[in-house]
Amino acid sequence: MAVKDVNTMKIVSKIWRNGAFIDWDDARVHVMTHAIHYGSSVFEGIRAYKAEGGTAIFRLTEHIQRLLNSAKVYRMDVKYNRAELSQAAVELVRDGGLDECYLRPVIFRGLNEEKPAFGVNPFPNPIDCYIAAWDWGKYLGEEALEAGVDVCVSSWTRTPANSLPAVAKAGANYMNSQLIKMEAILGGFSEGIALDDRGYVSEGSGENIFLVNNGKLITPPLGASILPGITRDSVIAIAKELGIEVVETSIQRAALYLADELFFTGTAAEITPIRSVDRITVGAGKRGEVTKQLQDVFFDVIYGRRPAPNNAAWLTYVNESEEQKTATATANE
Ligand code: PMP
Repeated sequence: MAVKDVNTMKIVSKIWRNGAFIDWDDARVHVMTHAIHYGSSVFEGIRAYKAEGGTAIFRLTEHIQRLLNSAKVYRMDVKYNRAELSQAAVELVRDGGLDECYLRPVIFRGLNEEKPAFGVNPFPNPIDCYIAAWDWGKYLGEEALEAGVDVCVSSWTRTPANSLPAVAKAGANYMNSQLIKMEAILGGFSEGIALDDRGYVSEGSGENIFLVNNGKLITPPLGASILPGITRDSVIAIAKELGIEVVETSIQRAALYLADELFFTGTAAEITPIRSVDRITVGAGKRGEVTKQLQDVFFDVIYGRRPAPNNAAWLTYVNESEEQKTATATANE
């Protein structure tokens, strides 16, 4: 495997497909693929970091488990189990030639060219699994991690969980995210925050959201049509370790304007401060103290400079030494 330069992007030249590595150029689908017409795909976004002790994938097991959960909700019969998909991800990063990268597993309803089926009924179509990887810098911009981003509240409502379940990371959910994102960009904002169908704060188009009030962390509950974010979970665990109280509760739109601090969490966005909402300055209009404290610990954990809360095995080293293997096995017990 090697790295391919495509314009300004560095992309791993191989893609894992249904159990084998193929060339980037061969990873193509037919235009009559079910997923293209009916949105029948589920996917993940995972990061690998150049940690102390070598490149490590952050919370791989949890991401692959969420992928399989998403597939289960949509009755997709995946031929690979969590260990096999995790192993494929490890090999892609280990041999891909990038020290740090973003991994994109995707599972979708494909096309059986011998026995085509073009209707909505997904069952006749094969299930295809792919994993690609590339070097993806800071999602909301390099300076955003310190300066923060300007966001708006979207006029689009987050899809209710009884229409498209938020626990599943399905491609179709991202049509809603795209409406939110496009509206934000065209309005001169970096990102949009959606309210749920009851009018309470839900999440960004690709991030969970946290408020800081009087030193407490407040975040919408899973019932607010949010993706159960793995970064969200990591931040909650880190906050608890630091003795910061975390409250999961319904949040009114206006509470965003009045928060002391506000930040997004996500694999792509990591922990990104929000400095204004609807052009109303949040707190001091820059990264707040609690946000910085959480960011510092988060980056220490993902770069292997500090153990994860409760010594959890959050890092999967792609070139595991014998000592690391033992440490991971012990932590997993
Ligand atoms: N919500 C949405 C809609 C997302 O797309 C993402 C990114 N996967 C998140 C939240 C954050 O989830 P995670 O921390 O697991 O990346």
